[in-house]
Amino acid sequence: MKTIGILTSGGDAPGMNAAIRAVVRTAIYNGLKVKGIMRGYAGILQGEFIDMNLSSVADILQRGGTILRTARCEEFKQKEVRKKAAEILKTHGIEGLIVIGGDGSFRGAQLLSSETGVNTIGIPGTIDNDISCSDYTIGFDTACNTAIDAINKIRDTATSHERANIIEVMGRNAGYIALYAGVAGGAEIIILPEVQWNINEICEKITYGIKRKKLHHIIVLAEGVISAAELDKMIRERLPKLDLRHTTLGYIQRGGAPSVMDRILASKMGARAVELILENKSQRVVSIRNNKIVDDDINSALSMKKEFNYNLYELSKILSI
Ligand code: ADP
Repeated sequence: MKTIGILTSGGDAPGMNAAIRAVVRTAIYNGLKVKGIMRGYAGILQGEFIDMNLSSVADILQRGGTILRTARCEEFKQKEVRKKAAEILKTHGIEGLIVIGGDGSFRGAQLLSSETGVNTIGIPGTIDNDISCSDYTIGFDTACNTAIDAINKIRDTATSHERANIIEVMGRNAGYIALYAGVAGGAEIIILPEVQWNINEICEKITYGIKRKKLHHIIVLAEGVISAAELDKMIRERLPKLDLRHTTLGYIQRGGAPSVMDRILASKMGARAVELILENKSQRVVSIRNNKIVDDDINSALSMKKEFNYNLYELSKILSI
């Protein structure tokens, strides 16, 4: 019987557990054995392997985080360390490895496979949605829902006090969470790394909003631009009388029960990853594009460029006049 390994690597994301469950259950359904590897690539080197059965993944579908834990493992960037990892995998009988993570984790999986022959399959798990080959990544939808929940609450108090509020959301160098949460949360202003912005235009928009008696001004800011505190200072310098507050949502966006969208995406991706192993495929990343589950060679997946949704950004400007 073939044995596969599964690990989560890089930043955690809600829905990773749903993907682990899908991998384990699909693998067992197809007669494979599964070993869970704790703490990403570091767990291979430290020999942290767990035999997974059907009940190892019971009651995790609805839980945020990852039961396999996650860690960063700098030494995995060294060729000799990856060689050692492959030897350890071999001693545990692991022929295929499924890696749930981001770009960095996929780079590690690609090198491990091309250098040592271990079959590797990547599943995109990150709240940032910054993996080019996939329209959506596991965790993004949940993070957006968490962000709009917070925006709704801040909007209540902003309206009562007729205040402006800056809400800084995560996303690393990408503005997907800010864009989606900003549109869904009815933000007046959305500031993203992908779009040029001008502080004077932002202040003009706030001033215009005050003149037309808007009750609040919600500014959604992507963390990859500047910090909420810095933007707060820039606005105060220009509009000293404005009643302004800022909030950084931070790690609440990384946790919580995964949304329906994330659970389904994770279930489909996890199952497809196992199918690819059964087809003896290697160095592939599972993605969703145009609502279809597809897979690509890791190298070509890593070199793809994702088209930013400028139409949605333009729509946000029309809807917030
Ligand atoms: P993410 O997978 O979310 O992009 P990182 O970039 O931190 O997160 O990568 C996670 C882990 O993947 C790293 O700690 C390391 O073990 C491995 N990794 C990242 N980049 C490489 C690389 N160039 N070569 C080999 N392994 C890598």
